Amino acid sequence: MKRNPTAFLKEEYQKLVEQNLDWKLRVLEGPSAPRSVVEGKKVLMLCSNNYLNLSNHPRLKKAAKDIIDTHGVGSGSVRAIAGTMDIHMEVEKALARFKKTEAALVYQTGFAANSGLIPQLVDKGDLIISDELNHGSIIDGVRLSGADRAIFKHRDYGNLEDVLNEAEKENYRRILIITDGVFSMDGDVARMDAIVNLAEEHGAMTYVDDAHGEGVLGENGRGIGAHYNLEGKIHVEMGTFSKAYGVVGGLIAGSRDLVNFAFNKSRTWLLSASHPPQVAAAQLAAIQVLESEPQHWKRLWDNTRYFKKELKSMGFDTGQSETPITPVIVGESSVAKALSDKLFENGVFALPIVFPMVAKDKARIRTMMNAGLTDEDLTDALQAFEKCGKELKII
Ligand SMILES: *Cc1c(COP(=O)(O)O)cnc(C)c1O
Repeated sequence: MKRNPTAFLKEEYQKLVEQNLDWKLRVLEGPSAPRSVVEGKKVLMLCSNNYLNLSNHPRLKKAAKDIIDTHGVGSGSVRAIAGTMDIHMEVEKALARFKKTEAALVYQTGFAANSGLIPQLVDKGDLIISDELNHGSIIDGVRLSGADRAIFKHRDYGNLEDVLNEAEKENYRRILIITDGVFSMDGDVARMDAIVNLAEEHGAMTYVDDAHGEGVLGENGRGIGAHYNLEGKIHVEMGTFSKAYGVVGGLIAGSRDLVNFAFNKSRTWLLSASHPPQVAAAQLAAIQVLESEPQHWKRLWDNTRYFKKELKSMGFDTGQSETPITPVIVGESSVAKALSDKLFENGVFALPIVFPMVAKDKARIRTMMNAGLTDEDLTDALQAFEKCGKELKII
């Protein structure tokens, strides 16, 4: 019998559809903004990573437009061959200054940074110790490495210490402790001070994925290093330009030795083209805006505190969040989905997060605050939450 070699494509997709686990794409008509149009409906945007609304900042837009006239729209190559332009170098210089590190390096994406760098830092004879809730791009980076793996319980640094003590017996060549900075499902923050102390005691390397902390944590959004006064003390501060910076691109900040090692070794960096100049120009403008216009960062945190407090006082369970990611935990997946649909009808765009991304009984709406939302927008959003929450008997 001749088999159909691609029959599984449809079958597996159908299975996802039946279980309601397939992605239904929602199309934005126009920019990702605090007030967006999604499939013809005007909504308050509560699920984008564009925390500071920099993707619509005039300075970023102008920088991107202007450089096309002088540099064109493509870089022509990978960074290592002919794809490094003056603008790429300027971004890295500005980034190191902003992060107060010796050096910085830009990757195509945050995913490319994690999947490219982690397997170079550790290999056979080494150990990676990872928080159990780390991001998928870290997990893929870890899978590409030949190192042994150990997991510690989420933000449980007593458990991390136990794992480190166990590891002493094995005589590993290198140990890498790796964690998300801000955990994207709950909005809680890794205790980098505790991790750095333990790492120093045990001679381990530290690596933090600060994707949701760049532009958000620390004074003026310098990131998790600044948040804990640990600038220059975390061996690898990795992050992204795709969230609060409002553009796209991965980044690492640390020592000159780290950067020299990273770009000579990371396969993702070496084998995939560099950003077009308009991306780099917008990245540079984003750093300059963060340095010179603290009002966006302040507004993000004012909005965050207010929104969280009001949701709590309505009786919603907002979990352990310490950041502009505020989950509204409702329990059953079906309830989270119903709440999201109802919110959308009432002009609020916030998506449900359900099993397997979170535990079965912890389905939620994940809200993400935006600096561009006005007091009136927040009042409208909160009224929608109250109305829909009552209709579904959540509060
Ligand atoms: C978003 C995210 C990434 C991926 O960043 P991109 O630049 O979008 O590829 C990596 N790690 C974490 C924790 C993230 O939240």
